[in-house]
Amino acid sequence: HDYTKADIRRMAKEENVQFLRLMFTDLYGTIKNVEVPISQLDKLLDNKLMFDGSSIDGFVRIEESDMWLYPDLSTWMIFPWGSEHGKVARIICEVYTADRKPFMGDPRNNLMRVLDEMKAEGFTDFNIGPEPEFFLFKLDPETGKPTMHLNDNGSYFDFAPVDMGENCRREIVLELERMGFDVEASHHEVAPGQHEVDFKYEDALHACDNIQTFKLVVKTVARKHGLHATFMPKPLAQVNGSGMHINMSLFDKNGNVFYDENGDQKLSQKAYYFLGGLLKHARSFTAVTNPTVNSYKRLVPGFEAPVYVAWSGRNRSPLVRVPMSREQGTRFELRSVDPSANPYMAIAAILEAGLDGLRNKIEPAASVDRNIYAMDEEERRENGIKDLPSTLHNALKELKNDEVIQGALGEHLFNNFVEAKTLEWDSYRQDVSQWERDQYLELY
Ligand code: ADP
Ligand code: GLU
Ligand code: MG
Ligand code: MG
Repeated sequence: HDYTKADIRRMAKEENVQFLRLMFTDLYGTIKNVEVPISQLDKLLDNKLMFDGSSIDGFVRIEESDMWLYPDLSTWMIFPWGSEHGKVARIICEVYTADRKPFMGDPRNNLMRVLDEMKAEGFTDFNIGPEPEFFLFKLDPETGKPTMHLNDNGSYFDFAPVDMGENCRREIVLELERMGFDVEASHHEVAPGQHEVDFKYEDALHACDNIQTFKLVVKTVARKHGLHATFMPKPLAQVNGSGMHINMSLFDKNGNVFYDENGDQKLSQKAYYFLGGLLKHARSFTAVTNPTVNSYKRLVPGFEAPVYVAWSGRNRSPLVRVPMSREQGTRFELRSVDPSANPYMAIAAILEAGLDGLRNKIEPAASVDRNIYAMDEEERRENGIKDLPSTLHNALKELKNDEVIQGALGEHLFNNFVEAKTLEWDSYRQDVSQWERDQYLELY
């Protein structure tokens, strides 16, 4: 929406908005809120609102803690759930340093920087359609804490009464629509208690904003149903994990750049170069698209998540799939991404990988239409099929060796990300799990 300041003042009044929730996203992909009363609206709209950035992980040192919040007027949205104190509106903000420069530790600012590079190379939009999956677990009515009890035994496309999550999911969809989302589909996923809601693609920046808002809405509605919604990639060992497939297409003033009526599979040369870049950098952007220890428990054979770097126009299982749709709908679907990723950082890395393919005319390997999981290691090697990193540790090693993906994150985000994720890995490394005791306690 192209809202003006006057539009926002008017809507705030008409809807009795009493609180403003100023949102931005930290390094971990967590939404941060600064809530101010409506009396601060004018100050906010004039870019005169400050906050203390030193309280945010991965942001700034104490000596430079004062930061500005510049509201992005296009993101104004009134939450449909009011309270007796009036309504709450949210607005996504850009974080600026005290001397009024875009703060590069703000992942959203960084994505805007990469999008500007893309525009300088002649493109208008990077369109992103995400498919986030999540689980619903029961809340313990006594403590209000999540349990590991699922609330249904449904599976893919099941109908009520088995799909007990349906009411909750339906309300999620209604709330999203009230907030202006264009929901294209919602269904039960393969695993018990697992769901997916797909909304229409948008330009990269707003698609990322939507992902952040989506998570908030899902968690809020679930709680009202006595449920906990989790975007953890692999909460249960023996069933599918939760992915967030990313559908993407690149547009210029003439439309979808990936489409060519006369191209091989009706894909343009540019589409192939973009794909070549995606595949080339896939192993090194995995740390960003799959940033938790738990992410790598999902990227194993047998659960519809990718394990190998390959693409196909037919097969559903590889890392990159080319859905059937052509002309303006021509797109790649990257299937490795999971919903624990910081969307702004993940999309920046993915876009930079594709742009690198275009700049350096990187040809992708041939498509693999056979079942890769049925190949042995040697066959995979003969076909030039590499593995995705198998742990966060290996993924970080790959990231540290790739200057293109480092460039996509910028120095501030890259350094803070590697530092934080190395600590996370070290903490995990020191833990001794039940699996180990079960395996070794009696054997040795
Ligand atoms: P799947 O086949 O994996 O189930 P869906 O059809 O459910 O995929 O999801 C399609 C997603 O792709 C939606 O978010 C949709 O808006 C998005 N999409 C459609 N066309 C484009 C496009 N040109 N660029 C990017 N995303 C697109
Ligand atoms: N849940 C699967 C994953 O981990 C994806 C299932 C699907 O194809 O929708 O990626
Ligand atoms: Mg799915
Ligand atoms: Mg999909």
